[in-house]
Amino acid sequence: MKEETTPSSSGAILENVAVLGAGTMGHGIAQVAALAGHRVLLHDPSAEALDQGLVRIRDNLEKGVELGKVSPEARDLTLARILTSTTLEEAVSEATIVIEAVPEKLELKRGLLAQLEASSGPTALLATNTSSLSIDALAQALERPNRFLGLHFFNPVHIMALVEVVQGSATDADTLDRGVDFAQGLGKEPIVVRDSPGFASSRLGVVLGLEAIRMLEEGVASAQDIDRAMELGYRHPMGPLRLTDLIGLDVRLEIAEYLHRTLDSEHFRPPELLRQMVRAGHLGRKSGKGFYSWDD
Ligand code: NAD
Repeated sequence: MKEETTPSSSGAILENVAVLGAGTMGHGIAQVAALAGHRVLLHDPSAEALDQGLVRIRDNLEKGVELGKVSPEARDLTLARILTSTTLEEAVSEATIVIEAVPEKLELKRGLLAQLEASSGPTALLATNTSSLSIDALAQALERPNRFLGLHFFNPVHIMALVEVVQGSATDADTLDRGVDFAQGLGKEPIVVRDSPGFASSRLGVVLGLEAIRMLEEGVASAQDIDRAMELGYRHPMGPLRLTDLIGLDVRLEIAEYLHRTLDSEHFRPPELLRQMVRAGHLGRKSGKGFYSWDD
């Protein structure tokens, strides 16, 4: 990859996008970026995670072709635009946009941000896909926090339209504009949010998910019926427990602990059942079992 952007035939800017972390979110971000025409370098220290990420991208695109939403040509071009690397420096050295999607741990993300800033060009836009961590707290790791912002995608990335563009107190206007333009170029609907714990989405979504787990714990109703209450009674496309399975119970627990600490509100205290399930390795779809079974 060359460290420069190029305009596409439609005039849109084509970027060199480095995506760090090839898990639930990273593979999806890589897919939508490549589908929009950007060159993508997907990085994960685990070669197995990279292989799995590519399999998931291929499967998603194949399904898109079956449904008539993606042409066979677009599928092939998308796959050809995605390269992988287990080396961080190689992934970011020529990137114009770097998006990290590594686990929701402040110190892990800070360490990675410091490393990637040192290895990327001075004008690269640096973004985090954090669901809840403070952009300002993460930015403390950076020498140029003006180039840093949150680009919070939703799961599954290739289907969900929303991107929260989160502005830290040091994020400059040009960085914010680039973030909004990039999200729009992926066909997403960006909203701009000030840096505040849980932003606009997780703060509300997590309360609902945790309360549903407390209701299950108290035997108010079965998981299926709690979900159906929200799906049929409130027209949510998916109930809060099934959604928690898709997000990952470990991811939800980390976010809940963080919001409980930072917002100092009992709404976010993680239910014991959630802790027990995470301890038992029942993490939702990715482990095959959560509130539902995901054998197939
Ligand atoms: P995940 O556990 O599925 O994937 C994380 C990946 O990061 C793994 O493949 C792991 O090998 C890799 N990784 C670990 N350390 C790394 C490092 N130092 N450098 C590069 N890669 C590394 O996690 P996820 O669910 O994709 O979540 C990633 C981020 O996205 C988190 O901040 C999370 O809060 C956020 N997020 C998650 C969801 C969701 O529904 N899961 C939704 C929105 C945002």
